[in-house]
Amino acid sequence: MRLDRFLSNLDEFNRLDARLLLAAGRVRVDGQTVTDGRSEVREFNRIELDDRLLQLGKPARYFMLYKPAGWVSATEHPEHPTVLDLLDEPDKHELHLGGRLDLTTTGLLLITNDGLWSRRLTQPERKQPKVYYVETEQPIGAEYAETFAQGLYFAFEDLTTLPAQLEILDTRAARLTLHEGRYHQVKRMFGHFRNKVVRLHRESVGPLKLDPEMQPGDYRSLTAEEVAHF
Ligand code: URA
Repeated sequence: MRLDRFLSNLDEFNRLDARLLLAAGRVRVDGQTVTDGRSEVREFNRIELDDRLLQLGKPARYFMLYKPAGWVSATEHPEHPTVLDLLDEPDKHELHLGGRLDLTTTGLLLITNDGLWSRRLTQPERKQPKVYYVETEQPIGAEYAETFAQGLYFAFEDLTTLPAQLEILDTRAARLTLHEGRYHQVKRMFGHFRNKVVRLHRESVGPLKLDPEMQPGDYRSLTAEEVAHF
């Protein structure tokens, strides 16, 4: 929200007070004096008026998790353990997932309490590339690459998938790069050729790669540099 709105939402100040406090240079955000009431502030910012703390600013949290098969990408589930059960962190109810993977899919999953950040991650317009390692039941035909590059029609959503890049690695193994995230997209794309996906693993999202040091079920905080990618 705007800083002037934040101030005037407090019981003791109206809009005029807010403007005067700002103009007098009495308001600091994360230690810096801010005079422009249009500046955006969030729950993560520390906001001070003179020596008075108006908002402590809670820490923004960002994690990468190596999702194992069998954990569901949800914050609650009646049958299966959720990926949040793998995190030993306080206030887990404040966390949400930046994207999802199917129950049996493994690999990179991002978890945060920062809604703006996760929106940037998942917004279709941003077309963040997602790279999957895929193993299939039947041999992968050379013609798949062309079909995936042209896009496949998904009748249920009445859309054509964005061009995707397929790199065939072996008879039944490939690496597929998608620029969107439709429901069961990889499985449906191979399903077009009646070829069942038997292993699916997400290696990266945008420039962020699953940490090679991590084992299934491991997680770690993102570095400031990794957070800044999105
Ligand atoms: N596509 C799928 O089919 N499943 C996933 O988990 C991710 C992409």
